[in-house]
Amino acid sequence: MQERITAVTGNIVALACDAIVNAANTSLLGGGGVDGAIHRFGGSEILDDCRKIIAKQGGCKTGEAVITTAGKLPAKFVIHTVGPVWNAEKQAEMAELLANCYKNSLQLAVENECKIVHFPCISTGVYKYPKHLAAEVAVKTVQAFLAENDTIEKVVFVCFDYTNFRYYMNFLKG
Ligand code: ADP
Repeated sequence: MQERITAVTGNIVALACDAIVNAANTSLLGGGGVDGAIHRFGGSEILDDCRKIIAKQGGCKTGEAVITTAGKLPAKFVIHTVGPVWNAEKQAEMAELLANCYKNSLQLAVENECKIVHFPCISTGVYKYPKHLAAEVAVKTVQAFLAENDTIEKVVFVCFDYTNFRYYMNFLKG
């Protein structure tokens, strides 16, 4: 049987799947990094949907997730989740918030019948979460979720850099 969880290096906007997860910020209005790339390549439809969500619920809290169209991206949906801004004095809280990003994103994927989900390395850019710690949380959380759920066929961690990719490969090998 093919592995249900894998890691690759690449640009998340270029890889086809059902749902692309975005490392957004609480405003949902777009930013830099992967968020910037998703809005740039996906077009204005994504921001239009984000504005509707803002009107309804005023943004997205850290650890939570919302879903929009994927616009011009090669996916059905973008799931926007907000990772924690790293604070070394609150490691346990950081890990819980980051795990919530993965759980809530996968829950939304299930509710929207997505079978193939691509994640970036949430919080490891501008939000400065140490890459090895973030990779461990990501892999363990997704493994636990998939063990309880068989509607998602594949989760791919799309790593923009080799440092992240190596950490993911190590944790995936166990
Ligand atoms: P955060 O604010 O959550 O840290 P960033 O976008 O700054 O979000 O970074 C999150 C991760 O996404 C980083 O590892 C960064 O290298 C990566 N990244 C940036 N652009 C892309 C992209 N186009 N595809 C995949 N990953 C990306």
